[in-house]
Amino acid sequence: MPHEVRGVVARKRGAPVEVVTVHVPDPGPDEALIRVEACGVCHTDLHYREGGIGDAFPFLLGHEAAGRVEAVGTGVTNVARGDVVVIAWRAPCGTCRSCLRGRPWYCFDSQNARQHMTLDDGTELTAALGIGAFAELCLVHSRQAVKVDPNARREAAALIGCGVMAGYGAAVNTGAVMPGDSVAVIGCGGVGNAAIAGASIGGARTVIGVDVVERKLEWARRFGATHTVDATQHDPVDAIRALTGGFGADLVIDAVGRPETYLQAFLARDHAGRLVNVGVPPAQGMTVELPMSEVFGRGGSMRSSWYGDCLPTRDFPVLIDMYEKGRLDLDGFVSEIITVNDVEDAFRKIVNSEVLRSVVVFAPR
Ligand SMILES: [Zn+2]
Ligand SMILES: [Zn+2]
Repeated sequence: MPHEVRGVVARKRGAPVEVVTVHVPDPGPDEALIRVEACGVCHTDLHYREGGIGDAFPFLLGHEAAGRVEAVGTGVTNVARGDVVVIAWRAPCGTCRSCLRGRPWYCFDSQNARQHMTLDDGTELTAALGIGAFAELCLVHSRQAVKVDPNARREAAALIGCGVMAGYGAAVNTGAVMPGDSVAVIGCGGVGNAAIAGASIGGARTVIGVDVVERKLEWARRFGATHTVDATQHDPVDAIRALTGGFGADLVIDAVGRPETYLQAFLARDHAGRLVNVGVPPAQGMTVELPMSEVFGRGGSMRSSWYGDCLPTRDFPVLIDMYEKGRLDLDGFVSEIITVNDVEDAFRKIVNSEVLRSVVVFAPR
């Protein structure tokens, strides 16, 4: 019997989202039905609404979620009814060429539920990042459900499912931050501040947050930035060099993903420094031009970080542990608690830099 719940749907490009009835099937083989308890509003949901991530409207939004397993289909062994889980948008297949070479974070065939959630008239919904968790119930592949400590505050735990993991992993997994490193992070929203927290936890001595909005620089200091740079007042490259003895940072993370910030990150590195790009480019067709002599002469590395190169089953429980021990300030990312009716307004607040994260919470049943 399909379940009827209310969910946040983007019907067409650029149109405000709507809260409508969504039909969620019972779990089939290898699937899990999750009772969503909290789901963060991520910039990627807004990208979907604006048609920036394909044209498969209508989308069922929401992908940064924690909840409880309501039911599982046949063959599911990794979770059971009642488990508290964070939902991942990467569930490695185990059999593709990346998985077989021991690099499951580059999996080419990440697993999702086979069945679709639908509208009243039977129209199939495309679940954002294979999740679709701005709804009381959500159907996923069971391996997308990662069991975590049931005592973790759901609004905080949910954020590990996307933004916090992406930023933290950009610093720790992709950037391989080392004790004593200097790290600069360009863009201090949810992902950037998680990168700052990761750099700080990883032992970086100098952590520089760069942004054009003073409120975001305040957040950066809360998450461990030792210095901040207001890019409306100072050239970020000059400022990062000045704060690192004139050399540039060992690791520069571009959490914005625009050609100009990528170039700044490229130039703000020390000799043999690392560049990590975790900010998703906001539009197709953007190009970046780099001086070839500097690409060679500076050495080091330039890498992209997809979802913080995370392995959810390995990394989610670690982040929850750090949260519960007071080492990772997940609560600091939760700017406000909202209802499923407030998602459109939360998009406005993201665009205006009013919030780090608005988190949709569903009333307990
Ligand atoms: Zn996201
Ligand atoms: Zn794979």
